[in-house]
Amino acid sequence: MSPEVEIYDTTLRDGSQGEGINFSVADKLRIAERLDSFGVHYIEGGWPGSNPKDIEFFQQVRRKIFKNARLAAFGSTRRKNLPVELDDQVLLLIAAETPVVTIYGKTWMLHVKEVLNTTADENLAMINETVRFLKDHGKSVVYDAEHAFDGYKDNPEYALASWQAAEKGGADWVVLCDTNGGSLPKEISTIVGAAQQKLACRVGIHTHNDSGLGVANALAAIEAGSRHVQGTINGYGERTGNCNLTSVIPNLALKMQLRSVPESSLAKLRELSDFVDEIANIRHDSRQPWVGSAAFAHKGGTHVNAVQKVIHSYEHVNPELVGNTRRILISDLAGRSNIVMKARELGYSIQNDTPELKTILARIKELEHQGYEFEAAEGSLALLIRKAIRHEQAPFKVDAYHVSMRRDGQISTCEATVKVRVGEKRAHTVSDGDGPVNALDAALRSALIKFFPRLQKIQLTDYKVRIIDTAIGTAAKTRVLLQSTDGEREWSTVGVSENIVEASLQALVDSIEYALENA
Ligand SMILES: [Zn+2]
Repeated sequence: MSPEVEIYDTTLRDGSQGEGINFSVADKLRIAERLDSFGVHYIEGGWPGSNPKDIEFFQQVRRKIFKNARLAAFGSTRRKNLPVELDDQVLLLIAAETPVVTIYGKTWMLHVKEVLNTTADENLAMINETVRFLKDHGKSVVYDAEHAFDGYKDNPEYALASWQAAEKGGADWVVLCDTNGGSLPKEISTIVGAAQQKLACRVGIHTHNDSGLGVANALAAIEAGSRHVQGTINGYGERTGNCNLTSVIPNLALKMQLRSVPESSLAKLRELSDFVDEIANIRHDSRQPWVGSAAFAHKGGTHVNAVQKVIHSYEHVNPELVGNTRRILISDLAGRSNIVMKARELGYSIQNDTPELKTILARIKELEHQGYEFEAAEGSLALLIRKAIRHEQAPFKVDAYHVSMRRDGQISTCEATVKVRVGEKRAHTVSDGDGPVNALDAALRSALIKFFPRLQKIQLTDYKVRIIDTAIGTAAKTRVLLQSTDGEREWSTVGVSENIVEASLQALVDSIEYALENA
């Protein structure tokens, strides 16, 4: 079924402008895959003209097949006084080989004169010719009208002329951007309404949250008839962030009865939000609407029974609809169906009444309390579920390890020793490395490769460390997230400890076990 409102995600481009956010190419690929399976309609991957990392992303992403989303490369209109076909930045957009290209251009005369230092007519030509050039190269074109609302308030005729320049060039969407986030919902709906009257092409909306109105403004545009909304997961973005899609999506579905992402995705919203936070290495915002851990947390005080009876009156929707949970009651049922779903995804058939389910849930709850986080560590979660269902022994055991580090003049080296057991057999190896984790990884592998030659193919692709403060009064803990690949598949594992080496070892052991059990 086609969507009534298209979701255009720019987490990887506008979102990555946010303070403290720095995605690697591998991070971007993982997030793109996840956004696609969640069901967003467009993924803006980056700006190939602005940095080499984004060029690499577009090269690598070509190997992926997306089920739902269309990939967009972002850039700007051609430079002034330069034929579009000679503009390198525009050519890079075509070289990105995406089905969609999004370009931004100027609506506001102030910017045309003071920032571009050009004439009103040249700006219109820049917009029109760039859109047309991209259309001639077979692209779907989204035209982002920068400062659309400020521009319109300043000079409505010129603003409209600039949008019409894009339309005449063949733009599929003209997206009005509230670039500095200063507009009010009423202004947004009035101006979006005016644009729709004058333009034959479709009108979209791109808002920022500087006045705390990013989501409200996007919804105002949709109420005025817009059917394309741009934003980011968790509202990442410059300054106070972009329009938060994790709020827009449930509002559309549950409050406005408008179809956007597939219905079945809604219950995975919390999971998506957590996943993106984990990859961005950003602490989860507990007060985030819809998906925050406090979004449906109730401070009881009164008798639990009484709270249970009137609970609906304290909640605007059922938290399970967005994959969140009520905190005071600890919704066992929601927890159960999530794990049943996860287990099926991993290929284990368990039912809501499988006795092992209780063990799995208890174990997850206990580990989460210790600081584990399984949203981005599906390898570790799979092992946990498998162990509970099959009651199997681990394929190997680490009996002991030792890591030492020394520095001699300028050169520092780390050495790790590992003793492992596979059935009755034992192995004892020593390896060097640049750092303690690297040395430990090398020692562990060389011990195990004799028993399991297929480990030769396994490589670590990413290593993330987060300091977490769990229960008050205990020392800070370290959470390590590892990503591994065998060249075909990728999986992630997690370890938590007060000691970073120990946390890394746990994640390494899980990674290898996962590789062995899923070979
Ligand atoms: Zn923006």
